Amino acid sequence: MTCAEVLRYLSPYLDSELDPRTSFDLAEHLARCEPCAARVRGEERLEAALASALRGGVADPALWRRIEGSLPAAPRRRRLRLLPALAGALALSGAALLAWALWPGPRPGELDLAAAVAADAGAEQPEAGFVPSLRPPEGRRGFRYEGGRHCSLRGTPVEILRGSAGGSSLTLYVARSEALARFPEAAARIAAAGSGKAVRCRLPDGRSFAAASGGGRLVFGCGAAPPEVLDDLVLATLAAEGR
Ligand SMILES: [Zn+2]
Repeated sequence: MTCAEVLRYLSPYLDSELDPRTSFDLAEHLARCEPCAARVRGEERLEAALASALRGGVADPALWRRIEGSLPAAPRRRRLRLLPALAGALALSGAALLAWALWPGPRPGELDLAAAVAADAGAEQPEAGFVPSLRPPEGRRGFRYEGGRHCSLRGTPVEILRGSAGGSSLTLYVARSEALARFPEAAARIAAAGSGKAVRCRLPDGRSFAAASGGGRLVFGCGAAPPEVLDDLVLATLAAEGR
């Protein structure tokens, strides 16, 4: 084995990765070549010193801050943009889930869709010749349809149906389900409730509010009727045959 070959095999030799024959030849060369033997001794001392330093290292917060500070900027910016969004999404879905799980029934209206309904004056006259695209079956829960009109609720087109049930007036709203994009709280609650379920709350003036979505439609309503009556009328309207 030549000195040049020893140099080439030095690293695998020190790592005990050489095949036995090559390792034997290299050891033979070291026994008779002092320059190569000295180089190997130097490498061995360096490796021992490195291993000792690594084993003896202590966790140093200041060192970690320096390492973090030296990391490339781009991944850090991306992480900073992503993390708040992710945390926000998790917090939002967690909060929605918690609100849904803890929700005992009707309570003061904080639902965005209910707030829009509460702000709707409801004083407009019915539109002559108006035929709603959906309406609850006449007589269901004592429902009587009294007229309706087209309207805009927070910029989204809706049909408003006035009626009464059990002697108390109520208002039903029919819209395309795309309207939910303007009411993220209601959208989240309706999604959490699942299909065929209505979500409820109470308006600040004490009226009941219920909303449900399915088949491309969003139906909601409010009135002095008991919440279960309103629920049923909203769901019956959603299930009704369109005109
Ligand atoms: Zn040599």
